Amino acid sequence: MSLWSLLFDPENSIWVYRINAGSCNGCEIEITPLFTPRYDAERFGIKWVGTPRHADVVLVTGPVTAVAKESVMEVLSQVPDPHVVIAVGSCGVSGGVFRGSYALEGPLDNLYPVDLYVLGCPPKPEGILTALLEAKKILKAKRKGQYQEKPLVVDPAGMVMGR
Ligand code: SF4
Repeated sequence: MSLWSLLFDPENSIWVYRINAGSCNGCEIEITPLFTPRYDAERFGIKWVGTPRHADVVLVTGPVTAVAKESVMEVLSQVPDPHVVIAVGSCGVSGGVFRGSYALEGPLDNLYPVDLYVLGCPPKPEGILTALLEAKKILKAKRKGQYQEKPLVVDPAGMVMGR
């Protein structure tokens, strides 16, 4: 990749929207530092957006509770194609400690296709940042019609599995 495309190619920038699908807020506490000087995700062209209609990537935390399900589906339906969905944290991946509860409709992949899973309860910022960088590659492949539906898993140390 040339320096020009690294610095100026708009395809290297992703706009990210976040959905809380019944999270305990622990995952959110780990997402927030991504946009502080320590992790500075913006240097990679990663930017928050305030509406799903502008998003390329959606981070979903929480196990998708019965109460949240309808809103989560409604918001996801507003994200333009192609887009990448990342399930964040043990709850997003599998329901976590809430798995099997009568109050759940999730996990998310029971309801909507997921492209990336980030393990951990809560996951580390390093893992979430790694997933966002992988999401850029997936998004490019989707735009070129070259995406093979093979979800990737990011472990708590930020290692990518499933390639
Ligand atoms: S994975 Fe852990 S920190 Fe994240 S929402 Fe579930 S219980 Fe909370």
